[in-house]
Amino acid sequence: MKGIAKSYAALRAYCETVPLVDCHDHAEQCGPNQKDPFEMFVNGYFASDLHSASSDADMAVLADAERSLEERWPILEWAWKRARFTGYGMMVRRALKEFYGEDELTLAALQRMQDKLLNYEDEAFFDSVLEKANIAVRILDVWPDVRKVLDGTLKLTPRGRLAISLPGYHAVRSYEDVQAVGNVVGRTITSLDEYLDVCRVIFEEHKAYGAVTLKDQSAYNRTLDYGNPTRAEAEAVFNWFMEDPRRSASYPDGVKPLDDYLFHAFMRMARDLDLPVQIHTGHMAGIRNDIVKTNAIGLTKLIELHRDVRFDLFHANWPYSGEWLYLGKNYPNVTLDFCWANIIDPIYCQNLFKQALSSVPHGKIHGYGSDVGGSSVDMAWAHAQIARDNIAIALSDLVEIDYLSMDEAREVAYAWLFGNANNFFRLGL
Ligand SMILES: [Zn+2]
Repeated sequence: MKGIAKSYAALRAYCETVPLVDCHDHAEQCGPNQKDPFEMFVNGYFASDLHSASSDADMAVLADAERSLEERWPILEWAWKRARFTGYGMMVRRALKEFYGEDELTLAALQRMQDKLLNYEDEAFFDSVLEKANIAVRILDVWPDVRKVLDGTLKLTPRGRLAISLPGYHAVRSYEDVQAVGNVVGRTITSLDEYLDVCRVIFEEHKAYGAVTLKDQSAYNRTLDYGNPTRAEAEAVFNWFMEDPRRSASYPDGVKPLDDYLFHAFMRMARDLDLPVQIHTGHMAGIRNDIVKTNAIGLTKLIELHRDVRFDLFHANWPYSGEWLYLGKNYPNVTLDFCWANIIDPIYCQNLFKQALSSVPHGKIHGYGSDVGGSSVDMAWAHAQIARDNIAIALSDLVEIDYLSMDEAREVAYAWLFGNANNFFRLGL
């Protein structure tokens, strides 16, 4: 992609020199290595677009590594031709060219790739790709073995800082779920008070380990419209399943009072620990999920109540851009994070970067987060390229209409790629 404004080339070149804060990633380990070139298409984000362009049956065939490349190729070719122009498709095409030297996806290209699949498990290679992408630091949402956080032996992937993964702590709906949390610190939990106490200890230990934020992606499974139930309502659910370990609170109504109550309790802990809270909003990975429940506007009551908690709202709330801008503009405790969004929909982001500048204080925008795993560091590089393109296109368009000077555009680009997130997450870079 290229901008059409006169200042585009200079601004894009500047963006390349600015290190990135990768606000959100899932690389728990370097690797595992792929064994089959089709994994590039059936495991990552692009798989959703292939799936949307084909069928469940076709995807099952593509993922079946027992079948030869030649047998699977006609299905991939057909779906690829229908899907390759999406943002995910652009990311895959860039990675194909950069890491495999392939301009086009063909059967011959797949056959060549078979013998030179990337060695993600080699930490030096993994780190070299981050270096190539000029990614300075990554905030990792990796659901680690919490015991290793507590004893300090958890090893993060290169350039990583830990996020505290919240959903499992408030989505508890059975005795077993509760004891799984207690087991981590060697305690048997018998009451809601004891449960909250254990959660607090675990979060404090995460901070002592070096965690820089809490992270929640419950919108995959529940509405972001958190109610504010009484402690008695929450405790009734908790006590009901605790008194009989064979019980399980039902989704969604049975468990909601407890889930909502715990989430509010965790927001108070975030405030006390002085850690921000990253929240998944908008589009979800995979296909066939309910988008309405994920609209960030559902968080309004939570944001208004917890004014001392700093919320970082993810993924540009795609496709609900207006509500997202509103929240960023109107609440001092909200920042807007473009992580993942740059590849979900590059054009949406180009437009939204412009709109965000003209409506939301630019010091509240975080421009990039790769949101890939340990077997996709090549995609993090391609994603970083696309994010820089999007920001340079948006800002050079604004220079073109005299909204900004070139120096001001550079200042904003620096803030969006690096400065804002460095300050917000107190990364100290
Ligand atoms: Zn993610």
